Amino acid sequence: MLEEPVFRPPSEARSLILQLTVGCSWNRCTYCGMYRTKRFRVRPVEDVVAEIRGAARYLPGVRRVFLADGDALAAPAEALEAVLGAIRNELPEVTRVGLYGDARSILRHGEAGLQRLRELGLGIVYFGPESGDDATLRAVRKGATAARQLEAARTVTAAGVRLSVMVLLGLAGVDGSERHARATGRFLVEAAPSWAAALTVTPVPGTELFDAVREGRFRLPDRWGMLRELLWMLESMEGYRGPFHANHASNYLPLKLRLPADREPAMALIRHVLETRDETRLVPEWARGL
Ligand code: SF4
Repeated sequence: MLEEPVFRPPSEARSLILQLTVGCSWNRCTYCGMYRTKRFRVRPVEDVVAEIRGAARYLPGVRRVFLADGDALAAPAEALEAVLGAIRNELPEVTRVGLYGDARSILRHGEAGLQRLRELGLGIVYFGPESGDDATLRAVRKGATAARQLEAARTVTAAGVRLSVMVLLGLAGVDGSERHARATGRFLVEAAPSWAAALTVTPVPGTELFDAVREGRFRLPDRWGMLRELLWMLESMEGYRGPFHANHASNYLPLKLRLPADREPAMALIRHVLETRDETRLVPEWARGL
């Protein structure tokens, strides 16, 4: 039985979700309301293993598993190894296990620890550095500098585990928009993940960011400002190779790109939409989601 609310990346929509941890071990980012109602804890390994055995019995043919919640990599190595081992034994058709990991937990396991987890079946780490700009990271209380986050990204790939990176448009507001966008574009080039996605920040009630927007202390870029930010990010992504998606439900102009081939055409499209203010190219506000 999952302890709601549970979040998973869109690409894990068909995965079996197992809650190794509940909540987020950090839970302090000013823009995030996902786990506010949960106190972080690592679930007993035997409970998770019992669920794996149950899945083997009642859900044969499972191919992918996602270990929730917000930062399952915060679990001790022994717990992760036991759970991955049980998945391998009980669900032999599973081809990939994924989880969210933040910079602290990635660096705590280190390259050797992640390598060991990869050998046991860990296939992908979803990592949300959100920005490559230190001033923005400090302001949103991310708890890690851009340099630490870059080190974490490189540690995952050095261990042979696929890395999916998420960044957030609008996170520095109007005032820091260009600085955040360009630093984040450069961060992505240096991090060289397997996939990268740019989502659009959406103030959620109950978060500090929501209060700051409501009280006028933080000005969120409007949809044109968000597009300009995406353009600045792409302009700073020369040398990036691989998929770069900005097609999340929160985005105004859905783009699914493979760089470097799609970079120039995408920048030309964004410039055109910005110049013409062509609203028909944008997702209407009512159709956007988190
Ligand atoms: S953004 Fe990630 S690290 Fe920050 S509080 Fe939310 S789940 Fe935790």
